[in-house]
Amino acid sequence: MTAATHRLGGAAAGMVLSAWLPVNITEGMLLVGMAVLGSIIPDIDNPRSSISYKWRGISWIVTISQTLIRGVSHLFPKKQSAYIRSLIGHRGLTHSLLPVIALAVCNLSWSAWAGYAQVGYYMTVGLAGGMLSHIVFDMLAGGVPLLIPFSTKRICLSHIKTGGVGEWIFRVSLMLIFICLGLEELV
Ligand SMILES: [Zn+2]
Repeated sequence: MTAATHRLGGAAAGMVLSAWLPVNITEGMLLVGMAVLGSIIPDIDNPRSSISYKWRGISWIVTISQTLIRGVSHLFPKKQSAYIRSLIGHRGLTHSLLPVIALAVCNLSWSAWAGYAQVGYYMTVGLAGGMLSHIVFDMLAGGVPLLIPFSTKRICLSHIKTGGVGEWIFRVSLMLIFICLGLEELV
C-alpha cells in the first residue's frame, strides 16, 4: 500500500478510537495526529519510504544498523543467519507486534514518570492504533511477520496490489469512515 493509504488508514483508526474513548476535542486531535504518525512508522525500514525522507537521521541509523547486522549475520550458521536477515529487511521486525508493544510501554512509562499520564495514554493509543493499522494493511497486501521473534512466517490476508483498483476502493472506504465519524463528532 502507498504512504497516502497508510496515512488515511491511520486517520480512520484514530477517528474510530477517539469516537470510542471519552476524549475531549484536544485529546481527540492528539490521538488522531499520533495515529497518522504511527501509520507510517513501520516503513522506517525502507530508506525510500515517506517516513525515511522525513526522519533522515533515524533512517540513516536504521540503514547503517541493517548493513552492519547483515554483515555480522554471515558469521552465524545458515539457519540463524537467514533468521537475522529476515528481521532487518523491509517488512521485518518493524512490521511485527513487538515494536508496537515496546513503543507503547516506553511511551506510557515516560509520560507517567513526567506527570502526563493521561496525555501519554491518548498519545500511546493513537500511536499503537496507527501502527497496527499499517500492519493490518500490509497483511492485506502481501503479508507481514506479525509474530517476530517467535516466527518469521509472513501472515497474509490478501494480495491487494499497491496502486491498483483494490487499493483505491480501500482508500475511498477509509475516507468515508473518516468523514462520517468526523461529522458525527461535530454534530
Ligand atoms: Zn509497510
